Amino acid sequence: MTQLTQSEIESIENKLRQRQHALLEEIRAELDERENQHLAAIMDNDPGDSCDISLADVLADLNIVRVDRQINELREIETKLAQVRAGNLNECADCGMEIGLQRLLAYPTAMRCVSCQERHEQMYAHEGHPSL
Ligand SMILES: [Zn+2]
Repeated sequence: MTQLTQSEIESIENKLRQRQHALLEEIRAELDERENQHLAAIMDNDPGDSCDISLADVLADLNIVRVDRQINELREIETKLAQVRAGNLNECADCGMEIGLQRLLAYPTAMRCVSCQERHEQMYAHEGHPSL
């Protein structure tokens, strides 16, 4: 497995955080005033580093169907950020082989190498997953 350089890791992490931020903005825009206050209260309780709580879980608990898509993507991002911290962000979740750097830069939340992803999509094709 190729070790990613610090700057490669940082550029992937930056992409993830930008996307995370954009998703939270989208979610906020979807929420009504009451839900927004609820969310703001949750986020205010967070002691600084939001890494250790899952905002996706918190939001899923609010059970707001219209932001389901955003919450799912947020969850993927949180999973990937955990891998960044664990130092295995380029390890395929299925076969343990390396996920190429170019693939990670193009799809920062990619959990699988290209061949495992193709197999996964064939298995779950009927669910209409977007092609990575
Ligand atoms: Zn694989």
